[in-house]
Amino acid sequence: MSKKVMAINCGSSSLKFKLYKMPAETVMVERMIERVGKDDAIFRYTYQGKKHQATQVVTDHYVAVHLVLDMLLSERIITDYSEISGVGHRVANGGSYYSDSTLINAEVEKHIDQLSVLSPLHNPVNLVGIKAITVALPHVKSVAVFDTAYHHTMPLVNKIYGIPYKYYAEDGIRRYGFHGPSHQYIALKTAELFPDHSQRIISCHIGNGASITAIKDGRSSVNSMGFTPLAGLVMGTRSGDIDPQIILYLQHQAGMSAQAIKDMLNNQSGLLGLSGISNDVRDLAKIAADSTDKRQERADLALKVFAHQIQFYIGAYAAELNGVDSIVFTAGIGEHSALVRELACRNLGYLGAKIDADKNAADALSIETADSTTKILVIPTDEEIMIARDVVRVAQLE
Ligand code: ADP
Repeated sequence: MSKKVMAINCGSSSLKFKLYKMPAETVMVERMIERVGKDDAIFRYTYQGKKHQATQVVTDHYVAVHLVLDMLLSERIITDYSEISGVGHRVANGGSYYSDSTLINAEVEKHIDQLSVLSPLHNPVNLVGIKAITVALPHVKSVAVFDTAYHHTMPLVNKIYGIPYKYYAEDGIRRYGFHGPSHQYIALKTAELFPDHSQRIISCHIGNGASITAIKDGRSSVNSMGFTPLAGLVMGTRSGDIDPQIILYLQHQAGMSAQAIKDMLNNQSGLLGLSGISNDVRDLAKIAADSTDKRQERADLALKVFAHQIQFYIGAYAAELNGVDSIVFTAGIGEHSALVRELACRNLGYLGAKIDADKNAADALSIETADSTTKILVIPTDEEIMIARDVVRVAQLE
C-alpha cells in the first residue's frame, strides 16, 4: 500500500524537504529554505507547476520545519498529519555508533547530541529538526540517516591515522567519511545506467562541501573527508587538508585562538579564502574569464587549486581501486560547472579518461570522448530519495 514519507535535510543554514509517495518514489512536494536564521531567509517551492520564491524571517530550523509542515495543510497536500507514515532525517555524524540508518529514540538523540562536538555545524541543527517533528508528529516513526554510515565498509588501513594507535582504539579518532547518502546514490545509479562500468567508481560530490569516494562493488573503500567534514578537498569555504603543524604555528607564533582558527579553516578558507572574492564557482568563473577585471588572477588561482585537488584525489583513488571504470561528478558544482570538470579531468588520459568538450559544455550524462575506456559521468545526486528509501526499510513500512 502507498505510504507518505518525508525526507528532511537540515543543513547548517538551509532546510531541504521532500514528501514522497512510497514505494513508487513519487515526489508529492518539495521545499527549500535557504539562509535559515536570517531575517531574509529565502523560501523556494514549486506549487501547481509554478515556481515560487518568497523572502521572510525564519529564526531557526525549528521554525523552518513547522513552516514546511503548515504548508502541507494550508495547500491541502494532506488533510491531516496522521497521513504521514514516516520521516527520515539526514544526520551528519553517527560516529562509531551507527553503521546503518536507525529508528530514532531517546538514546539515538543522545548520541547525535554527543557527536555535536565533531560536527558542530550540522549535528545540532539535525537534532533541532528531529525535535520539531517529534513535537508536531508524535505518532510518526522517525529514522536517522547518517552521512557516515555508508563508509563503515572502509578497511582499517583507510580509517586509521598515522598517530599512536590508542587514539583510534580509545578516543575514536579515525576517518569517518561523509556525504554517504549521496555517494551511495551515485553507486546505485551508475550501476543501473552503466552496469558494465560500475565495478570501480570514483564518485566526486563537488558542492559547497565536497568529498570524493572510491567505490568498489558498490561499497565505500575510502572517502576524502576524515574525522570531520573539514578534511580532504579544498571546498567553498573550508580548507580541506593542510599540514597540521600550521594550526600549532598559528596558535603559538601568531597568537590566534582556537576559535579563530576553527572559523578561519571552516568559513574563510577554500575558494573564498584563496580568491578573496567569493565561494561561488559562478562568480569566480566569470571573473577568471574577464581580462579587464583586476581580480582575474586570484579567481583563476582559486579555481585551479580547487580543480587540481579533485584531479589529485582521482589519481589516488584510481590507485586505491586498481583502475577506474567510471568517474562521476555530482552536487552543485559537479553537476553544473563544465569548467571545474574540464580542469579536474586534465591529465587523466593515462586512466583512459578524456573529456569531450561539447558534451561537457552541455552537462550531458556521459561526457567522455568516444575513445575513452573510462566513463566520465554527470549524475544529479538525490540524497532525499536515499533517506525516504531508508525510512521504508528501517521503519518496516512495506
Ligand atoms: P551544498 O549542498 O554543499 O551547500 P551544493 O551542492 O548545493 O552545495 O552546491 C552549491 C554550489 O554549487 C554553489 O556554491 C555554486 O558554487 C555551485 N553552482 C551551482 N550552480 C552552478 C552553476 N550553474 N555553475 C557553476 N557552479 C554552480
